[in-house]
Amino acid sequence: MLNRILKYLLFKLLISANLFTQITIDTNYEGANSRILNINNAANTVKIESQLRSGDVHNVVFYLKISGFNTLLPLKIQVKYSQQYYVPVLAAYSYDGVNWSRITGTFSGDSKEFSAVFPQNSIYFAHGFPYVYNDLLNLENRLLLNPYTSITNIAVSHGGGNIKLFTITEPCVHDSDKQVIWILGRNHAMESHSNYILEGLIDFLVSGDFKADMLRRQSIIKIVPMMDVDKAFNGGTGKDQLPVDFNRDWDSPSYWPAVIAVKQKITESAIQNHLRIFIDSHNPFPGQNDNNTWFYSRQESGPRSINLDFYRRLLNENGGYVFNRQPLYATDGQTSASWVDSVISNIDFSTSLETGWVTRTDNVQWTLPLYKLHGAVIGKGMADYINNLLQPGDIILDNTDTLAGVTINGAWSSSTFIPGYWGINYLHDGNSGQGSKSVKYTPQIPGMGYYEVFIRYTSDAGRSTIVPVKLVYSGGIKDTIINQEIRGSQWLSLGMYRFDAGNTGSVTVSNSGANDFVIADAVKFSPRNNCNPIGFVTTGIPVNFSLKVYPNPFNPSVNFELNIPSNSDVEILIYDVTGKLVKKLMSEKLFTGIYTFNFNGENLSSGIYFYKTVIKPVNGNNPYFNSGKLVLIK
Ligand SMILES: [Zn+2]
Repeated sequence: MLNRILKYLLFKLLISANLFTQITIDTNYEGANSRILNINNAANTVKIESQLRSGDVHNVVFYLKISGFNTLLPLKIQVKYSQQYYVPVLAAYSYDGVNWSRITGTFSGDSKEFSAVFPQNSIYFAHGFPYVYNDLLNLENRLLLNPYTSITNIAVSHGGGNIKLFTITEPCVHDSDKQVIWILGRNHAMESHSNYILEGLIDFLVSGDFKADMLRRQSIIKIVPMMDVDKAFNGGTGKDQLPVDFNRDWDSPSYWPAVIAVKQKITESAIQNHLRIFIDSHNPFPGQNDNNTWFYSRQESGPRSINLDFYRRLLNENGGYVFNRQPLYATDGQTSASWVDSVISNIDFSTSLETGWVTRTDNVQWTLPLYKLHGAVIGKGMADYINNLLQPGDIILDNTDTLAGVTINGAWSSSTFIPGYWGINYLHDGNSGQGSKSVKYTPQIPGMGYYEVFIRYTSDAGRSTIVPVKLVYSGGIKDTIINQEIRGSQWLSLGMYRFDAGNTGSVTVSNSGANDFVIADAVKFSPRNNCNPIGFVTTGIPVNFSLKVYPNPFNPSVNFELNIPSNSDVEILIYDVTGKLVKKLMSEKLFTGIYTFNFNGENLSSGIYFYKTVIKPVNGNNPYFNSGKLVLIK
C-alpha cells in the first residue's frame, strides 16, 4: 500500500513538474549559435538548428544555453542537420561553461537526438568543446607576466578582432643563435578543439619542464592560436567560407588580414632565423577519421618527408596519441602548409596536423585535459627534434675517436647491423663479460660553461634494458640507467651540467649488471647558455653573500656581480616602475663562486627599473635578499 502511495505521489510530482516546465534558450553570448525550431515543454524536448553566419556555407557549430527544463525526465535535444556528416557522434554539455562532458546521440528523421536526465536545470550544449575569442584573451592575460612570452597584435580582422601572435623564447639567449618554429591554429573556426591542443602546447613551452627550457634556449616559437577570430567570436563555422576558405587563401594575393599578416611575419622571421618547422593545427569534421591523429605534407618523399617522419617518431616516443600520416588532398595547393613549403627553401618540414575527434568511451576518454596533453607532446617532440640538429660548438665523440678522448676497456665488437648509428659503426659488448667492459668518452672542453649532454646508441629487442651511464661534471657525478631497447638512433639528453675547461668531465657507458647486449656509439656535448656566465671567477671562494650592480645609471647594459659562498638557488628579477616583470634575469642553481651577469636594456625605454634578488642556500641557511633601483639613460 505504501508503495502504491509513493508511486502515486511520484506520478503527481512528474505531472506538476511538467506543468511548470518552461524551457528557455539563450544564445546571447560570445560564440553562441543556434536557431530554435521548436520547444515542447510537455515532452521536455527542444529542436534547434545551427545558423549560417555571413559567408558560411556549412551549418556546423551549435552552442546554446538551455534552461528551465524538467530535471526528472530526460531532456531531448534534437539537432536538425542538412548533412549528417557535420553532426558529431558526441556533442558536449556543461553546467558552468567551463567543465565539459560528452554526450552521445542517435539519428532520427532529419535530426540527431541527444537525450539525458540533467540534474541541474540549466546547461550549455555545443557541437564540441567551445573555445571562443574571449578564451584566447584569457590565455593572453594569464601569460602577460610570463618572462618567456611576448604577445603582439599583428592584424585586425574584418570584424574588428585582434590577431594575436605569441612569441615564446628564452630572452637571455641571443635570438641570432636560435631556430624558429611556427604554429597556427583555427584556420577553420569550427575546429575549436585545436585551440585546446595549442593551449596545451603553450603551457608546456612556458613551463619549467627541462625539455621546454632547453627548447626555449635554442628556439623562437611563434604561435597564432586563432587565425579566424571573427567566426570563433560569432559562432561561425568558417570551413569553405566565402569569398575564400581561410586555409585556401595562402596563394597571393590573400584576402584575410590574418593570412596577409602571418605570411609577412613568417617571411621576416625566416630571414632572421632558420625556420625549421611549420605546423598548422586542425581538428577536422567529426565522423570521419575520428580517433586518429595525422599529418599531411606536400612533400611525400625526400628530405622534408624524412624529417617529418623523424619528428613523428619522436612524438610517438613521448607518450601521446599515435601520430600517423595521410596522403595529401588534390586541392592542397593553397594551404598554409603548402605555401610555407614553397616559399621557405631551407625549412626542415611544413605540415598540417589533424587531430580527429575522439569518440572512444573507454577509460582513456579523450577529454580536454587530454587534448592539452596532446599539445604538450607536440612540444616535447619539437624539443627532441631541435636537439637532434647539429649546432655550432657541439662536441661529438664517436666510438672510433680513440685518439681524441674515447677509451675502450675490454673486448667490444663493431657493428653496422641496426641503422641510425653515428659515424661508420657502433660497438657492442657481445652480451658477455658483464662488469668488465666500458667505453669512456672524455671531451676537451674549450672553456668553463654549461653543456647539455646527449648519448646515442642503436636500439633493438636484444638490448640491455639496464645500461649504466656515469657522467662526471664539474662538481659531481650523475649516474643514469638507460633502456637500450627503445629510443635509439637519436641524441638522447642526459641533462645540462657545468664543465670546467679541459678534460675533467666524462661519460662512461659500461656493461656492469647488463641483461642483454650493450651498445656504445657516440656522445654529444652541446653548449647551453644558462643565462648567466659572462665572467666567471674561479679563484677564491667568497666569504659572504654580496651583490654589486654597475654601472648604474647604465646604457644599454648593466652588470650584476654576485658572490655566493655556498651552493644556492638564485633568482634575479627586473621590474619596471609599474611593478611589471620585465625580465627574469636569473633563475638557476649556482655553485659556490663569483658570477657576473649582464642585463641588456637595448630594447627598453629610458627610465627607472628595479631589481630584486633572492638567494636561497641549498643547505637551508638564511636566504639573502637584495633589491634596488636601476636607471637606464639612453
Ligand atoms: Zn581544418
